[in-house]
Amino acid sequence: MTQTEGWKEWADYWLGLQNFCERGCLACFATWFDIKYKRITDPKERLTFKPRKTIENPDKKYPGRVAFPNTHDITIQNYSQCEEYLIRLLKAGNQVLIVTKPDENIIRLLISALSEFKEQLEFRLSISTYDNEVLKKFEPNASDFEERVLCLKMLFMAGFETSVSAEYYLTRDVKGLIKRIYPYVTREIWVGIMNHFDQIVEYAPVIESLRELYSLETVLTIHSELERYFGHNYFTGKITIKYKDTFEAMVNKNNFFERNELIVNSLLVEKNGVGN
Ligand code: SF4
Repeated sequence: MTQTEGWKEWADYWLGLQNFCERGCLACFATWFDIKYKRITDPKERLTFKPRKTIENPDKKYPGRVAFPNTHDITIQNYSQCEEYLIRLLKAGNQVLIVTKPDENIIRLLISALSEFKEQLEFRLSISTYDNEVLKKFEPNASDFEERVLCLKMLFMAGFETSVSAEYYLTRDVKGLIKRIYPYVTREIWVGIMNHFDQIVEYAPVIESLRELYSLETVLTIHSELERYFGHNYFTGKITIKYKDTFEAMVNKNNFFERNELIVNSLLVEKNGVGN
């Protein structure tokens, strides 16, 4: 599961079954949230079982899109509960977005269990880099790149709507990442930075090594590479890249200052004359 303040860009409701997750991703949004609201003091607390106080009703039709799961992933430990909950949500007529760092065995089970609900479903797989060493370091108990791509292919071949979240990306080479996955994506590829960076570094200092990845310079480089390479779709066919709110805000702010600088410069040229 990956989400930011911009989670409303993806769904109207985020539902889940548990407040812990064995994946142990270092920059987990749910961990940041629990620390911020003093539910835990050490991220390791989120690795162990804790019953959830309230679970939202899966048998009602929500007035908007539902994303699942929010504060955990779908793993072999909770698969049966997740499957049952998803089927109840789908039988109630909901449009559901499943957001996951996918395991092959889980995706095989979901394809078979949910095939009759294809029209109501989209799978959004979290694939933030093709570098397995980086994945192992920052998402220690999640699948490697090859397994995630295999899951994407399986869903695509089975006729499900698919999208990818590279938010937050864990590579400078987002273009190279997208080149490796786009043929199996039927909807969007989301690109975004890691939010709450300074707060996360306080309890996960190893994250500091990623700071440069989310600097203005890197964001602008990634943005211009993506626009240049995929903007015209000459070679790639239809591909939709979406920028998450905080990434887009950095690009827009820079464009605003650049535009203003251009206007000021051209006014100076007009006033002083070229060559003065
Ligand atoms: S899989 Fe999602 S919920 Fe679980 S630790 Fe990773 S980011 Fe957090």
